[in-house]
Amino acid sequence: MRPESHVLAGWGEAQRAVCRSWPATSTDDVVALLRRFHEEQRPIALRGAGRSYGDAATLDGGDVLDLRRLRAVRAFDRESGHITVEAGVTIEDLWRTTLPAGWWPPVVPGTMHPTLGGCIAMNVHGKNHFAVGCIGEHVEELEVVLPGGEIRTLTPADELFRAVVGGFGMLGVVTAIRLRLKRVESGLLDVTALATASLADMHRELEARVPDSDYAVGWIDAFHGSARGVLHTASYRSGDDAAAARASLALDGQDLPARIMKVMPRDKVAPLLRRATRFPGLRGINTAKYLATRIRGEHRFTQSLVAFSFLLDYVPRWKSIYDPHGLVQQQSFVPKERALEVQQRILATCREHRIIPWLAVLKRHRPDDFLMSHSVDGFSLALDFPVTDDKRGRLWWLCQELDRIAIEAGGNIYLAKDLTAEPKTLAAAYPGLERFREWKRELDPHGILVTDQAKRLAVSVSRS
Ligand SMILES: Cc1cc2nc3c(=O)[nH]c(=O)nc-3n(C[C@H](O)[C@H](O)[C@H](O)COP(=O)(O)OP(=O)(O)OC[C@H]3O[C@@H](n4cnc5c(N)ncnc54)[C@H](O)[C@@H]3O)c2cc1C
Repeated sequence: MRPESHVLAGWGEAQRAVCRSWPATSTDDVVALLRRFHEEQRPIALRGAGRSYGDAATLDGGDVLDLRRLRAVRAFDRESGHITVEAGVTIEDLWRTTLPAGWWPPVVPGTMHPTLGGCIAMNVHGKNHFAVGCIGEHVEELEVVLPGGEIRTLTPADELFRAVVGGFGMLGVVTAIRLRLKRVESGLLDVTALATASLADMHRELEARVPDSDYAVGWIDAFHGSARGVLHTASYRSGDDAAAARASLALDGQDLPARIMKVMPRDKVAPLLRRATRFPGLRGINTAKYLATRIRGEHRFTQSLVAFSFLLDYVPRWKSIYDPHGLVQQQSFVPKERALEVQQRILATCREHRIIPWLAVLKRHRPDDFLMSHSVDGFSLALDFPVTDDKRGRLWWLCQELDRIAIEAGGNIYLAKDLTAEPKTLAAAYPGLERFREWKRELDPHGILVTDQAKRLAVSVSRS
């Protein structure tokens, strides 16, 4: 294995790092490299597809283990829906392998490009979190290379399994995953769209509709004082005749359409949005989006699993609207009893400081017992902020303030999105942190697995 120097960043591209990248192609490569780094007591960060927003998969001035080339499907049982894949297999690789046989990943994030290893390390959730939990709840077995180079097989019965899942690459390298898939009759979803006049309205509708929905997600117009929005709920389609159902599972039926709303070529959307950001144009686009749904009233349509699940992958280079300084996403989770009041306060704080998120998304979640769990029985609000030269410091301060507001209300932050949190935030948000640190000390006494995020958050500090 030969390292190459690269400038790497998180998905938000708000912070860059010069790293020496080691491309592993097998579990044996991973074992050999970790043994060497362990002996030399040299730090190294783990990296999948680099789809975490912040600094979770970089190590500035240091080494990075690139896991994207561990790409084999080791076994797929089409009858039982169990699949064993290497850690560099992406969510896209997964659904392309399994959907024609009537199986869909039980949990997918909002983009299909992350690796399974990266998804396990952050224990990702989807728009069905309220119903099925995080991805870790669907994992039956993990192959993990510990920091000293020992290979372990972990199952949900092992305490260490509950620390590695969601353990943001601090306790070992996940090299293979055995996953239980979701049986689907059709490749389509029945989707309902509804305009909501305020955040309170959206909370009410979301709460009323989740018991009968498989998926739910709310878009919020953060430019508008009432936080009006559009709620989408969706259910797996069933009852179609066999030929139609089979056709909908075919891969060519899932590929993302070339035109948005059958009119605009996908590659024209980002340049248009980019122009809109230079004027108060985004405000206008949000108003148009809200009014279009409001005027049409509640309505239903069918959409492919891929189009519904990976909305952001629809628009090539959508993120270029945040050029040249990138974006920061702040996502906080708040227990349901306080979520409305706290999220209203979060949005009011943004307005008060005149830093308005260009995108705001609401989801419903459920708790779990992973050691470093970000989940709560409540709601999350994900806010995408553009980074600008003149407001960078104020934006960091604002995100820390929003973290604080959520955590004071018994809530949490999510490390997959974070670039700005402080060490005290991690300690307050994650009650399992002390036990996690004990695992870290036991398995990785020299602290070789480290990232810029782990350094910033002082993950490895000893108990005082
Ligand atoms: C557009 C967009 C939408 C998103 N939507 C969602 C969403 O809806 N829900 C959600 O939960 N997340 C979401 N995410 C976040 C994303 O799913 C997670 O950050 C995921 O962890 C990215 O996987 P990756 O392969 O890119 O990992 P990376 O970002 O490269 O790494 C993530 C972490 O995993 C560690 N790691 C990577 N590979 C391994 C391995 N093999 N073994 C051990 N540790 C490893 C790294 O050290 C790092 O700490 C979204 C991201 C984007 C860009």
